[in-house]
Amino acid sequence: MNRPRRPPRHGRPVHVVIVGAGISGLGLGMALKRAGHHHFTILERADDIGGVWRDNTYPGAACDIPAPLYSYSFAPHTWSQRYAGQQEILEYLRGCADDHGLHDHLRLGTEVREARFDEHTRRWHLRTQNGDTYEADVLVPACGQLSRPSSPHLPGTERFTGRIFHSARWDHGLDLTGRRVAVIGTGASALQIVPQVAKQAAHLTVFQRSAPYVVPRWQRTYRPTSGPLAWIGAKAARLGWWLFNELTVPGLTRRWRTRGFTAFGCAAQLRRQVHDPALRERLTPRDEVGCKRIGISSDYYPAFNEPHVELVTDPVAELTDKAIRTETGSEHPVDVIIQATGFSATEFLASLHVTGREGRTLADHWRGGARAYLGMTVPGFPNMFVLYGPHTNVGAGSVVYMVESQIRYVLDALRVIGRGTRPLLDVRADAEDTFTKEMRHRLGTTVWSACRNWYRGKNGFVTTNWPGQTAEYRRRTRRVNLAHYEPRGPADHPHTPRTPTHPHAPRTPTRS
Ligand code: NAP
Repeated sequence: MNRPRRPPRHGRPVHVVIVGAGISGLGLGMALKRAGHHHFTILERADDIGGVWRDNTYPGAACDIPAPLYSYSFAPHTWSQRYAGQQEILEYLRGCADDHGLHDHLRLGTEVREARFDEHTRRWHLRTQNGDTYEADVLVPACGQLSRPSSPHLPGTERFTGRIFHSARWDHGLDLTGRRVAVIGTGASALQIVPQVAKQAAHLTVFQRSAPYVVPRWQRTYRPTSGPLAWIGAKAARLGWWLFNELTVPGLTRRWRTRGFTAFGCAAQLRRQVHDPALRERLTPRDEVGCKRIGISSDYYPAFNEPHVELVTDPVAELTDKAIRTETGSEHPVDVIIQATGFSATEFLASLHVTGREGRTLADHWRGGARAYLGMTVPGFPNMFVLYGPHTNVGAGSVVYMVESQIRYVLDALRVIGRGTRPLLDVRADAEDTFTKEMRHRLGTTVWSACRNWYRGKNGFVTTNWPGQTAEYRRRTRRVNLAHYEPRGPADHPHTPRTPTHPHAPRTPTRS
């Protein structure tokens, strides 16, 4: 299954640098290997691979879409459960990296601070946190949308004597047994954290700003299988879940009435699981269903029946030395505050200073909101392909499927670049513009535009999500359409040296 294919028919090796060893960066690395392309390096700032599955180690962390769909199609896996836990997913990613021999390509503890396109060498020059430099023909930022925790500043934090941490930076040195714990936020992470913390804490206070829709999680344990049957089973399960999710997409993007089923499922679960009608009322969602990510949990609501679990719906105002004070003035004594407040998803590549042609920076280009043709290419930033960039997240379905579409596109781009047909792929500004207008127009009528959520940027537009079914994205990214790229080749570029100077092997990091 992991047999490398015959080497690609490249005119010359193209060296690729991937920034990030999360699910998308690793996926591209695996696909490159499988395509017989060995000239690549993966730079990862942390000391381990896995991205969000390395970072989110909170109790109860698990996939909230069925794992058979949340895995690479080219590395099917027999999962132990439908909604696999964080550790199993991380092990899967590690196994994939081992099986595909990615370790020789990985540079851990390497944080890229700057990436600059050099017009003379026609390559990307990268600088890391400790001054090491790397060069690449092709740059692939694969930094994810959910890698920057968002921790709102709470007035009074400096005088609070307890502990505070974000859900994605869990303090495993702290035993919550017998403590008074607060969880701020009620998104997908909190839904998994609350039932677990409720088992340990002496008192748990959940601060809810808006109530989420929560539908039952039909967990299932899979029988261990191996051999061809396991492979067929994994493929079939993946196909089935993909089809199911594709059918639910129009409920979000076209506001089909099918969303009513979700609202019904949530209301039924709430009625069945929460005994106190007043509490039920406060847990009832008010937003349009689907406008925030729909929660999947069967043990979140029951936690609120416990006498030591309290729901607070007053907005948090400030911290005192030992408590959280709300805007109505009530005080809630706490020892530990867990901020399950999400991520800065719309600040794509914020920690990476990227400079393209003519000294233009990506930060400038994205001042009015992140934008990229097909979510991947940006005019003036040649041979750069962003993975899981703007407009590539899904409201239903698997991001892994979207990322695989992008991986295919990058492989096609490498063929074009390697053959010399178009050694620099610089997307046309009008192609990016038309694409962005289409996204904004289509997303404006989706349910995601109907409330505050992490999909919308500061400009109010939904920036993270794809407005259709994942099949549409797969179709549109099937091939690189050269008509959408600048017709600039080596001959007509003013700075092109007469003799190509591309070293074939990755440049070893050099101190500058
Ligand atoms: P989230 O969905 O953005 O939820 C953040 C929560 O914090 C929301 O309830 C939000 O309230 C609240 N909040 C934010 N700022 C606040 C403030 N200043 N004061 C009070 N409350 C505040 O974040 P998340 O739960 O970490 O999930 C993010 C995404 O990660 C998910 O949508 C999902 O895609 C992914 N995820 C996936 C899994 C998985 O199983 N695969 C698990 C966890 C997370 P409002 O709703 O009122 O804004």
